[in-house]
Amino acid sequence: MPETPSNKIIEVDVAVIGGGIAGLWLLNRLRQSGYSSLLVEKSALGSGQTIASQGMIHGGLKYALAGSLTGESEAIKQMPGIWHDCLAGHGEINLRQTRRLSEAFYLWSTGKVGSRLVSFFASKSLRGRVNKVKPADYPSAFAGSPYKGSLYRLQDVVLDIPSLLDGLSRPHMQAITQSADASLQQDDEGKELLRLSPGITVRAQRYVITAGEGAGAILADLHITQPAMQLRPLKQVMVKHDLPHYLYGHCIGAQASASPRLTISSHRCRDGKNLWYLGGDLATEGVEMTDGQVIDLARSELATIFPWLDFSGASWATHTVNRAEPRQEQLIKPDSAFVGNAANRPGVIVAWPTKLTLAPDLAARTLDTLRQQIEPGATSGLQLLDELPRPTIAVPPWDLAW
Ligand SMILES: Cc1cc2nc3c(=O)[nH]c(=O)nc-3n(C[C@H](O)[C@H](O)[C@H](O)COP(=O)(O)OP(=O)(O)OC[C@H]3O[C@@H](n4cnc5c(N)ncnc54)[C@H](O)[C@@H]3O)c2cc1C
Repeated sequence: MPETPSNKIIEVDVAVIGGGIAGLWLLNRLRQSGYSSLLVEKSALGSGQTIASQGMIHGGLKYALAGSLTGESEAIKQMPGIWHDCLAGHGEINLRQTRRLSEAFYLWSTGKVGSRLVSFFASKSLRGRVNKVKPADYPSAFAGSPYKGSLYRLQDVVLDIPSLLDGLSRPHMQAITQSADASLQQDDEGKELLRLSPGITVRAQRYVITAGEGAGAILADLHITQPAMQLRPLKQVMVKHDLPHYLYGHCIGAQASASPRLTISSHRCRDGKNLWYLGGDLATEGVEMTDGQVIDLARSELATIFPWLDFSGASWATHTVNRAEPRQEQLIKPDSAFVGNAANRPGVIVAWPTKLTLAPDLAARTLDTLRQQIEPGATSGLQLLDELPRPTIAVPPWDLAW
């Protein structure tokens, strides 16, 4: 397609479609690695899963709750070190400005933690990663409480997502654009192109789809059947309250199981109030319930787990969101970031991180794939993005719910 005054062309090596954690991390790595690139976001950066996440960067121990390190925890184990370096300002991306909500995630049980789990936590493989906390060092929600069980501390940092999205996008804003109806098409010769607006087209050597759940519609439009996507919904519960406790942790049920009964992260709302964001089994089971039912369940869970805390004056809301992942047998959890070539469109690559934590893994795998396929080439016209809007950063669900 020739460039004409009414059809201006941007030429880059890689066009990234979707600006959540996956697309933004990838854009950073591509531009550092000598691949000219741009990113197009449909609405606000991080809309969908990233802004709805609990912000926990974990090394997989969450998945070891049943008492052994699974394949998943081995695959994810490298990630905290990479994030730690980035947050300290000497990693693959400089995230020094990203706000940390907590340096640790706590783990406790309502019943007796299975003896298998206790000995597993004490085992050599976990030395230094999980520590039993003395009552004098309990987080404030437990301090002075009648809680009698064991409380463990995991070295998992929790991040403030808007500041993370800001840190990843701000240095590259000249290569980021917002377009609600950008579409991948083929020209008369069968070459891929990305129409950003009626007058601006992108020609790239490769198009990487990091659109989360939005990948489903793009794949359907392009008749791409492989890779395929699966969605696993969650109904998170939000509790806005007047208690002074900021808590980050997993409550394990009486029976050791592979998933936590309740996962809690704490956030400050725009109105200055404290909010507990509740996930875990509550949120997976909650998808089968009405909002009222899941809120009732959350109330009773908090009353059982924290009988010494008073949530009677709290306000409650829910947030339903899909986790988007490559399709697996029986909707099970994938065990690492996924990057795959579209079966019938050689220029198109599809990627899902499956966890916030795995964004560096996704970028590394995508770079490996690209290095096998393309060399950095000609670049032109990036300044045309000045004619289009720039995306803002998504607003957390708790600042939209009330
Ligand atoms: C409730 C919840 C809690 C979670 N907590 C954690 C956690 O604590 N730790 C962890 O490691 N993981 C967590 N996860 C998983 C993690 O959030 C996701 O794996 C990750 O955020 C996915 O990022 P993504 O960039 O692929 O997708 P998304 O964040 O969904 O981003 C996709 C982006 O693409 C854009 N888009 C969509 N369609 C198009 C299109 N056609 N054109 C252009 N742009 C488009 C969207 O607007 C969006 O901005 C959680 C997930 C959920 C749902």
